[in-house]
Amino acid sequence: MNTPPTSPGSVAASSAPTLALPGLHHVTAMASDPQRNVAFYTEVLGLRLVKKTVNFDDPTTYHLYYGDSAGTPGTILTFFPWAGLRRGRPGNGQVYATSFSIHTESLAFWTAHLAAQHVTATRDTDRFGDAVLRFNDPDGLILELVATSAPDARTGHTHPSIPAQHALRGFHGVTIAVIDAPRTQALLTGPMGYRVVATAGGRIRLAPPAGGPGTFVDLLVDPALPRGLNGAGTVHHLAFRTPNDATQAEARATLLGLGYHVSPVMDRNYFHSIYYREPEGVLFEIATDPPGFTVDESSATLGTSLRLPAQYEAHRVEIEAALPKLT
Ligand code: ZN
Repeated sequence: MNTPPTSPGSVAASSAPTLALPGLHHVTAMASDPQRNVAFYTEVLGLRLVKKTVNFDDPTTYHLYYGDSAGTPGTILTFFPWAGLRRGRPGNGQVYATSFSIHTESLAFWTAHLAAQHVTATRDTDRFGDAVLRFNDPDGLILELVATSAPDARTGHTHPSIPAQHALRGFHGVTIAVIDAPRTQALLTGPMGYRVVATAGGRIRLAPPAGGPGTFVDLLVDPALPRGLNGAGTVHHLAFRTPNDATQAEARATLLGLGYHVSPVMDRNYFHSIYYREPEGVLFEIATDPPGFTVDESSATLGTSLRLPAQYEAHRVEIEAALPKLT
């Protein structure tokens, strides 16, 4: 949806108010096989399936949410698994890589665990002092584990085959691949309230004032990267947190005032969302922290049964019959 404003460079000089965006809310990506997706994220990575619902715009498709035990914003990776969807190509104009935070002492565990699970992982160049382990999910989505000594009190989700101290704690951040960084940087450092916290080579790291794991957005300028193509194994959009409906309304008004084409507020049941495209084409979302994933099932049973929004509940039988079975 939406096209970039005609003069996005103007955001840099704007004196518009700064949005209250304390970090990342979720990342949504595309997959081709829901069962394989569930197996990888719950059994290999040890995340909790915190919500099994449908794509609200296409109820013949699942929308699967993974995260920590409670589905805390900043830990949530979600998928639209379209059966048979052709593979995309990670590249410029996309969220190129999604990174999870682990303790520095967890690197050896994860190196061995991924190998045991037949997942090929490579040690990337250390990034701002942190070791980075990179691998792909079954659809080719680029994932990273960032072993960081930065404070991160999040505990992730407990899985029987992953010692609690090694659990993925939630996002470390994302890397957006761009052809031209200044316009995206201006949006982030202007109205979105981020600031540059580190730069090395072609990578610019941005964070909101509180910063830390779960908040980082890296802009990567790599001339070797192709133009990204959407499809399985690529990111659909990136969502930032906002505390509540009022702060979201302020954000929407500010972005509209700057010439961005911003969607109306969408009720996603577990949060409320607005969408707009940043200048390089990446779809951004601003999502409220409340009401959260326990709005329609208990914390003990998150993700165990198909949840439908009210508008689809009357069609539950047909919808369940059309969806592939998940175990
Ligand atoms: Zn979203």
